[in-house]
Formats: sequence, C-alpha cells, structure tokens
Amino acid sequence: MFKKIIMKWFSTLFLVFFIGFLPVQNFYAQQKPFIVVLDAGHGGKDPGKVGYRKIKEKDIALKITLKIGKILSKKGVKVIYTRKTDKFVNLYIRGQIANKAKADLFVSIHCNAHYSNAHGAETWVLGTSGNRKNLEVAKAENKVILMEDDYKIRYKGFDPNSPESFIGLTLLQEDYLDESIRLASIIQKNFKGIKRVDRGVKQNIFIVLHQTYMPSVLIETGFITNKTEAKFLKSNYGQNKVAKSIGNSILKYINELKANSIATPKPPVKKEEKVTGNVTFKVQIAFGKKMSTKPYNFKGLKNIERKRFGKFYRYYYKSTSSYNTAKKNLQTAKKKGYKSAFIVAFKNGKKVSLSKALKK
Ligand SMILES: [Zn+2]
Repeated sequence: MFKKIIMKWFSTLFLVFFIGFLPVQNFYAQQKPFIVVLDAGHGGKDPGKVGYRKIKEKDIALKITLKIGKILSKKGVKVIYTRKTDKFVNLYIRGQIANKAKADLFVSIHCNAHYSNAHGAETWVLGTSGNRKNLEVAKAENKVILMEDDYKIRYKGFDPNSPESFIGLTLLQEDYLDESIRLASIIQKNFKGIKRVDRGVKQNIFIVLHQTYMPSVLIETGFITNKTEAKFLKSNYGQNKVAKSIGNSILKYINELKANSIATPKPPVKKEEKVTGNVTFKVQIAFGKKMSTKPYNFKGLKNIERKRFGKFYRYYYKSTSSYNTAKKNLQTAKKKGYKSAFIVAFKNGKKVSLSKALKK
C-alpha cells in the first residue's frame, strides 16, 4: 500500500517535471497545424468516368474537394490541394505533394460508374487482400497511369490491368492502415447521416494511395451513372452535403487523434517501453469480416489469431520473438497462397511499426 502511494507520488512528481520542462518543445509542436492534402481525382485530359448526361467525374470531384477545403480551413486545418483547377496531375506527383508537405492525412475524392443502376458511397484504403469482385473500381482508378510518360519505370512494372503485378511494389502504407481505416469508417458512418447508401469501407490496390507516407483514403462519393445520384452530385446542394459530411468526418478524426495523444503523454511512455518492451512478430495474412480461425478457413495454416479492428478483423499467423523465425513464417504463408502477407510487430501487446521494432 505504502509502496503504491510512493509510486503514485513519484509519478505525479515526474508528471510535474514533464509538464514543467521537457515538453515545451512538444507542446509547441502540437501547435503545428494539422495538414490535410485534398486530392481531386483526375483532371485535364483525364475526365475520369463519364456519367448521366455526360457529367464528368473530374468536375464533380474538384467542386466537392474545394468545398471540403473551405470547411477545414475555417477550423484551422492547413489544406493543400493537388489541383485547384482542371489540370492533369500524375498519380505519383499527387503523392509527392503530400509527402513533401509532411501531411498528416491524404484524402482523394472520386465518383463511381457502373453499367447497372448501382448507387451509394464507399471509402477505400490500400490493401492487397481485397477480393476480385472489388477489383474493377481499383482498375478504373489506376488506369490513368497509362496516360503518364514513363509509367512503366515510375511504377516499377505495375500493370493496371493485372493486379498481381502490384506484388513487386513494397506496401508502404502498412504502418498507416489502422488510421486510414479509422477515418474511412467515420466517413462511411457520416454518409449514412446524409442518406447515402453505405457501400462500406473497402480495401484494394489503389496506386495513388500507394504513393503516400501517411494515413490515406480514397472516397467514391457516388455513382454518376445513376440518374438520381448524378443529379444529386451535380447540384450545388448535393455537393455541399457531401463536402460537409466528409469535412466533418475529417474534423472528427483529428479531434479523436488529439484526444488520444493528450490522454497518453508519449515521451515518458516510450522511454519505459524501450527498457521493458517485449517485441513479438506476427504475420498478417488477411483482413476483413469475422470468421473462425480454424485451419480450413486459412488454407490449412494453424495458429491463426484474430484481432478486432473497428468493424473488421485482422488475421495473424503465428507469433514469435525472433524476426528471423517471423520471416520463415512469412515464407510459409506466402507459399500457401497469401502472397501479400506481411510481418507486423507488437511491443507489450501493442502494434508498433516494424521499422521501430527492428531498430531496437
Ligand atoms: Zn476516379
């Protein structure tokens, strides 16, 4: 009991010190504006999809994007646009703009098209475990690289018509997947509030998302091939609604992030972790809906662990403290057909970036 009181006293003292001296820089850093890069899809020679009464995706995307920007700027968010006018921008340049600005978030705005009467909104994050049925949207959005010079060199042999060619590209977004999904979930939830049909948070290979080093999402705001939805998206009324919904989602995401970072003062926690941290490595093989971890669901692989993440679940294959063993486990998973599997690191049960875990 006495020990506990002493400990408590010490930690309070530490906190006083911490607040008093150490974090001057840190608090200053928190004053730094939150930077959001807003990316209006397509532009210039690339109209994107063409819908009902020849509505062009590039025009709708730009209008909604500029409206979102206004909403965010008013709340003190620093907004950077990849385009503010009707011009063509290479996909990798869009990523470069975000990376150079050291943005905190990348949000790409698009519209969907389909020969059926499909309607509704969906938000995408980068991933390779997406299913084939979903691939058409990614293919349509990636096709634009064919309009770029040197795309074969630039995207290291990626062929927008053959998603398998993506495997040659390293999955840089891995560290940001949690945050990307969190934002995507807020966006989809808010869409329901403005009576958009919720087509869900989805995952697939979007080259524009692959280019960034920060949480990134791509929003398909609706189908311009559906008459009702096209009219809605073309109207100032509809664009305002969609922009407000997305803008508020981004603000909610930022507020949650801030609330979290205040609740857990980072510097002292990290120091302690370095001394006592136990690192384990697992192989993430799948992501998606809830299912049993029995081997028959996982191509015969045993020792599958399921972890909930929002509405979704992650599936890990084996756990080890040795990185070399983890690499062997990764090979086993890949041989079984999980070609896009990757290693993730945990420190004291909390997911940390692989690069940080290996530095230790
Ligand atoms: Zn698009």
